[in-house]
Amino acid sequence: MKIVMLGAPGAGKGTQAKMIAAKYQVPHISSGDIFRTNIKNGTELGKKAKEYMDQGLLVPDELTVDLVIDRVSWDDCKNGYILDGFPRTIPQAEALDAALKKAGSGLDFAINVDVPDENIVTRMSGRRACTGCGATYHIVYNPSKTGDVCEVCGDKLILRDDDKPETVQKRLSVYHDQTQPLIEYYDGQNILKTVDGTQDMNDVFAAIVTILEA
Ligand code: AMP
Repeated sequence: MKIVMLGAPGAGKGTQAKMIAAKYQVPHISSGDIFRTNIKNGTELGKKAKEYMDQGLLVPDELTVDLVIDRVSWDDCKNGYILDGFPRTIPQAEALDAALKKAGSGLDFAINVDVPDENIVTRMSGRRACTGCGATYHIVYNPSKTGDVCEVCGDKLILRDDDKPETVQKRLSVYHDQTQPLIEYYDGQNILKTVDGTQDMNDVFAAIVTILEA
């Protein structure tokens, strides 16, 4: 099961990706998490990526494509994976397709979690991320059971710089320009499935499971 998650920033695709990964026991691969780990560890890649991320811009394809394509070649990916946040541009999608084709496989589904722009900014201002393990919560829709610390590791929860309202507006316009064309791209491959992301997260998940098990 090789799945790509699509959707605007804040549509809830990361939450759904984690739920799918847990149910079907495949790795959840988030390009954003890979960059954040690099930033936390002070790597050269992290330093470069941060410059773009803090402005709500995409990290250039040259820094992104090889990193993710290498990750999906790891042994834990042989039964599939959920890609969250990658691809985000047509060249990234083409590079992924080419790498998969070379390995004799291909994607099974591109799941588009659809949420209108109006809902996104409100949603993202309520998002909280763990400074330790990167787990994400929402103060209304998915609060941490342990208050303002992470349920998983106990570290502090914060509003990420890139979730601040002014950055969210930029990320949304970048999404429409560079990432939304992927909807048509995967529709053209007949693997696109769209779910209504405005529903409760458990209902979104149920809709996705129905698609995957049809
Ligand atoms: P995310 O956690 O997926 O929302 O990603 C956070 C930020 O990381 C994005 O706003 C981008 O700056 C960067 N990023 C993550 N994935 C990609 C990607 N596939 N291509 C370019 N930039 C990315």
